[in-house]
Amino acid sequence: MSDPAPTCLFCAIVAGAVPAEVVAETPDTLAFRDINPFAPVHVLVIPKRHIASAAEVGPADGDLLAALFTTAKAVADAEGIGGPDRGYRLVANVGPDASNTVFHLHLHVLGGRPMDWPPG
Ligand code: AMP
Ligand code: ZN
Repeated sequence: MSDPAPTCLFCAIVAGAVPAEVVAETPDTLAFRDINPFAPVHVLVIPKRHIASAAEVGPADGDLLAALFTTAKAVADAEGIGGPDRGYRLVANVGPDASNTVFHLHLHVLGGRPMDWPPG
């Protein structure tokens, strides 16, 4: 595992230095509730290893991405939004136009209400 980025909030959460409401953990991923939720279910799924954003993902990260999506599905199922009659949205913001504010790769798992498409 790479060293945590010293100023990264989500690395601090992985290290236990900043508290979070963790809902799932695997050897390579962590899932915790967004501090400012805008849907009834709003969970962030991150790799424990620091990757700055989806734009920094490379061919060597395939297993980690699979782990990320597997944890996201497990969270959705555990939150009751994964069944065939429900549904959820996975979002990875990249850069200022997408309102990206934390530069440690994360998937937003959003659900529990119908969500418009296209998003705002
Ligand atoms: P973004 O970088 O735009 O994809 O989103 C970063 C997300 O992190 C936002 O939805 C914030 O509400 C969330 N966030 C910021 N600080 C914390 C924290 N300490 N614990 C949980 N979520 C956080
Ligand atoms: Zn980080």
